[in-house]
Amino acid sequence: MSDTSAPPATRIEPPVTEEAEGFWDATRRRELVLPWCGHCRRAFWYPRPVCPSCLRPDVGWKPASGRGQVHAVSVMYRPANPTMAGRVPYAVALVDLDEGVRVMSNVVGIEASEVKVGMDVAVTWEAMSDGRNLPLFAPDARTP
Ligand SMILES: [Zn+2]
Repeated sequence: MSDTSAPPATRIEPPVTEEAEGFWDATRRRELVLPWCGHCRRAFWYPRPVCPSCLRPDVGWKPASGRGQVHAVSVMYRPANPTMAGRVPYAVALVDLDEGVRVMSNVVGIEASEVKVGMDVAVTWEAMSDGRNLPLFAPDARTP
């Protein structure tokens, strides 16, 4: 089964693991969700079948704000793989989401060299070839 409206793959697309199915399903609706422990009452990252803090399997999915701050950034002047060759220079960043988890992504919508630690960012989406959407981040209006 293929979705003819989806664009061809222009980057390496993450595989869907069993633990991350709920995450990727939500990206089809451009919703960012995080794994959530019902006992600890907090989000964690990456998706896994038990909470990394209490080891209980009481985990589910909870919508995230999509907002956060850049914790660290690297500007890639040489592509990490051939599919990224047309995007250099690009910014690979660790983003601290407001929900307290740290994720790795790209910051787009700004010159890569202008991405700064502490910058407020918000999720934006890039369509993938199979109907999923890849969460990326762009400067958020909270930054003056
Ligand atoms: Zn827990």
